[in-house]
Amino acid sequence: MGEDTLFRSLDLIEPGDLVRYHGSLTDAHGLYLAQPCPCAVCRLRLRITPTDTRYVLLDPWDEMPGPQCVRRASITRSDACN
Ligand SMILES: [Zn+2]
Repeated sequence: MGEDTLFRSLDLIEPGDLVRYHGSLTDAHGLYLAQPCPCAVCRLRLRITPTDTRYVLLDPWDEMPGPQCVRRASITRSDACN
């Protein structure tokens, strides 16, 4: 991973952004719409560590829920948004 990749991994994910999930749930890898995870655990975590935003991922076609409480490092904003 080069410096450029590392820098881009810090890009902010906006709610509704199309992202590619590449985290630990390999069966779930793919494209999703990212939203801030609304669960109680993530809201509490964010209050303690404001930089640790977690995401819930929605299937962009049928809006079925995908992985939730996903770390920022497990998703990359898709080029398809640009
Ligand atoms: Zn959560």
